[in-house]
Amino acid sequence: MEQQEQDGRALLGKLRASGAAKAPATLLPAVMMEIGRGDAYTRLTSPIGPVFVAYNAAGVSAVMRLDDAREFEEAFRERFGRGVYPASEPPEFITRAWSTQFHNHTRASLDFDLRDLSEFEQAVLLKALTIPYGEIRSYAWIAREIGRPKAVRAVGSALGHNPVPLLIPCHRVVRSNGNLGQYSMGGSEAKRAILAAEGVNLAELDSLVRSGVRYVGSATTHIYCYPTCSHARRITERHRVPFSSEHAAEHAGYRPCKRCRPLASAV
Ligand SMILES: [Zn+2]
Repeated sequence: MEQQEQDGRALLGKLRASGAAKAPATLLPAVMMEIGRGDAYTRLTSPIGPVFVAYNAAGVSAVMRLDDAREFEEAFRERFGRGVYPASEPPEFITRAWSTQFHNHTRASLDFDLRDLSEFEQAVLLKALTIPYGEIRSYAWIAREIGRPKAVRAVGSALGHNPVPLLIPCHRVVRSNGNLGQYSMGGSEAKRAILAAEGVNLAELDSLVRSGVRYVGSATTHIYCYPTCSHARRITERHRVPFSSEHAAEHAGYRPCKRCRPLASAV
């Protein structure tokens, strides 16, 4: 048993001995939460079905898609080396954030417990958090944005180990060639389902990928974008100019969009 659980149980023992008589079974998680050392969990519905969401005093600590609570508790303990306890009901900050994310379609304001991750992994996830709802960037984009342009593979692994998928939207990051790539919450099918729920036009993206288009430019502004950038979506059909690479765009005299920041040709 981990130290934190021993502490919790010791405290619970004292409470019981102090005359609190029979402490209910739910008191241990409550005590653990109270002393800021416990993780509680609840089950919520997502675009890919029910998921378990764990949280503690630092913020949301895990989102996992598993079949039952026992399986989740085991997976959580295996990954984080500590226990997790069922909450009697989800706290308001979670339900509010969940509704913001999946009904209002904007980014929920939430804290995350990323303390088990390296500085690099945290930088990758916090950068992924800035990708707007319904938009897609590449692994290489994240690598460059965090100042580690060569670490594309490591970015992929860091996203693959995202402890809080859905809330930190690693599903919005794909390979540079447009292929969706892997997804820890159930493979590329799940990734597609979440992106579709966010309004991404997957049929159009697939067709761009097939024809080798990575960016779209505007013939009026001479600015080029990732196809899902909200600026790109405003370009009228007759002014849309497809580009197969940032080199091609810049060679044609187009400048990168300041909002979605396509990869500069120097990288
Ligand atoms: Zn853009």
